[in-house]
Amino acid sequence: MSVVQTPWQAGTECVANYDFQRRTDQDLAFTKGEVLTIVAVTRDPNWYKAKNKGGQVGFIPANYVQKREGVKAGTKLSLMPWFHGKITREQAERLLYPPETGLFLVRESTNYPGDYTLCVSCEGKVEHYRIIYKSGKLTIDEEAYFDNLMQLVEHYTNDADGLCTSLMKPKLMEGTVAAQEEFFRSGWALKMKDLTLLQTIGRGEFGDVMLGEYRGSKVAVKCIKNDATAQAFVAEALVMTQLRHKNLVQLLGVIVEDRSSLFIVTEFMAKGSLVDYLRSRGRSVLGGECLLKFSLDVSEGMEYLEGNNFVHRDLAARNVLVSEDNIAKVSDFGLTKEASATQDTSKLPVKWTSPEALREKNFSTKSDVWSFGILLWEIYSFGRVPYPRIALKDVVPRVERGYKMDAPDGCPAIVYELMKQCWHLDPNQRPSFMKLREQLEHIKDNELYQ
Ligand code: ADP
Ligand code: MG
Repeated sequence: MSVVQTPWQAGTECVANYDFQRRTDQDLAFTKGEVLTIVAVTRDPNWYKAKNKGGQVGFIPANYVQKREGVKAGTKLSLMPWFHGKITREQAERLLYPPETGLFLVRESTNYPGDYTLCVSCEGKVEHYRIIYKSGKLTIDEEAYFDNLMQLVEHYTNDADGLCTSLMKPKLMEGTVAAQEEFFRSGWALKMKDLTLLQTIGRGEFGDVMLGEYRGSKVAVKCIKNDATAQAFVAEALVMTQLRHKNLVQLLGVIVEDRSSLFIVTEFMAKGSLVDYLRSRGRSVLGGECLLKFSLDVSEGMEYLEGNNFVHRDLAARNVLVSEDNIAKVSDFGLTKEASATQDTSKLPVKWTSPEALREKNFSTKSDVWSFGILLWEIYSFGRVPYPRIALKDVVPRVERGYKMDAPDGCPAIVYELMKQCWHLDPNQRPSFMKLREQLEHIKDNELYQ
């Protein structure tokens, strides 16, 4: 048995690498793939006391399980680490040196812009195969066609199919890590065979969201659409491995089994997006206490992100989901970056984004606070679109001049005050999420929400 070096603390999550049968009734049996939470160390470093999802507690052997880690921040994960972009034929040949049959990379074609070239080392020589783009598909031999490069590489990995050799070893782009391997290493890779896809429940910008069943629980599964968006999915999943809070939609894992498909599996939020929830129930169903509870839930999730230096960048009621037991959780971390990184502003939702973020790409927790103010307004107006009756093109100039939305009908003055604080033009004058959470708690505890 291997000795565990540093003991895992209570609360650490592990994934089982093997099935384990109990030897005594003190032990906790588990199956491969199960997630277990450490409850306590034992005197024997090879055994832990752990809890399974059903709440059963018992002893588990440390060497049957793997610690689940956040994927290290700053790691450049790529689904196509063998893709080297625009490099020349000579550079490709240098990268594939020393020769090793089956070593390969893909580059953009220099002679035929828009096409690609597959470069494969084969018995001391490098072969360059032109990949042509024909009526929306990729092909080398005009016999086998592929939707994307990942599928093409997958195909020629399994079978040479006319090439000098099958693809055996990717030549990795410098500074990137294969996403597939990183998710396995960190314990976040799930098995496709454990997942059943049931029905489509949402349509996102990046692809469909489906209801699924994973090891007996309902889950939500975000499915990949194509190459470019797959990379965005990886970024989203990467962020999610590092975050854990009751008011953030929890990542359960990713499925990256073959090279051409990617699924992000999260907890299932039975009541859908907050904006739809508010619109469909409306004023007659949702009382002040309920609206305040949603506001407080979101502020707690955001306080956690603030404390961890994560900026969400797309906080809005459409990106908050509601669980079966009415807990609001922040989702959609696609745009989330650790504070400091810059970001393309062209796709931003103007009505939710702070003036300095729109103007100078200056995203910060304080720009999230601005969005939170808009989100509060959405909550108290039961899901109305912000800035009603103002043309989209007029919103920014008016806001820049200090215009602020009126309080929604029936919104308590004390809540409207919070919104206005969030909309301070000077980011430094806006409250922190910690402050906002405290104030919302104060409103709740003193029943000032009517
Ligand atoms: P996008 O990243 O393109 O904005 P979303 O993550 O917002 O996509 O998902 C689109 C829709 O799918 C949501 O508005 C919601 O209705 C549904 N959805 C997404 N995630 C879940 C989930 N975990 N549980 C239930 N429904 C979800
Ligand atoms: Mg969304």
